[in-house]
Amino acid sequence: MPEQSANAVAPERSRLVVLAGPTAVGKGTVAACVRDQHPDIWISVSVTTRPARPGEIDGLHYHFISDEDFDRLIAEDGLLEWAVVHSAARYGTPRAAVEQQLAAGRPALLEIDLQGARQVRERMPEALMCFLAPPTWQELERRLVGRGTEGPEERERRLVTARTELAAESEFDVTIVNTDVETACQELVDLFRSGTSRIHS
Ligand code: 5GP
Repeated sequence: MPEQSANAVAPERSRLVVLAGPTAVGKGTVAACVRDQHPDIWISVSVTTRPARPGEIDGLHYHFISDEDFDRLIAEDGLLEWAVVHSAARYGTPRAAVEQQLAAGRPALLEIDLQGARQVRERMPEALMCFLAPPTWQELERRLVGRGTEGPEERERRLVTARTELAAESEFDVTIVNTDVETACQELVDLFRSGTSRIHS
């Protein structure tokens, strides 16, 4: 197959869906549901400079890398997008892996933050941008506290970020409300099957 630039819209390439949304809305849980129930959908493993949490596995949840290695990836254009998230660590999507999967005809899912989603939209306008929304703001707050993985300061910082992120919904092609994980997961999977590249709900 001839080489294609990242911006080429080629019908034979399978769909790329970008899942973004406010912190603690459940992006990771919905993506995990897709991973479990739909192994035909490839899910990108991001690189990050944050340390692994207990139970996280290098290469499965993230590639945990040093600042120097992250710098190197940026310098060699190895990242499709990257961002500093929650003013803390850097996260990025390895570019080659995504392009390989799409070229091989495999549907691909990125679960990333809003800043990253905007970069993907610029570089790959054919990607379908999906916003995962909480049923209500109160529910989002409850989920953030309930998760219990962050201290009070970090939680407050993430809530500030979440308010800005919620306001970005209109930039997306489609919104899925995460009232329950199974339904949200199914709605996300349906996006890969629908014929059009842009869907407005
Ligand atoms: P956590 O540290 O809780 O795993 O993730 C924090 C945030 O980073 C989440 O909102 C997640 O979507 C985002 N994130 C994870 N991987 C990437 C990535 O590759 N790029 C960007 N821009 N954000 C990411």
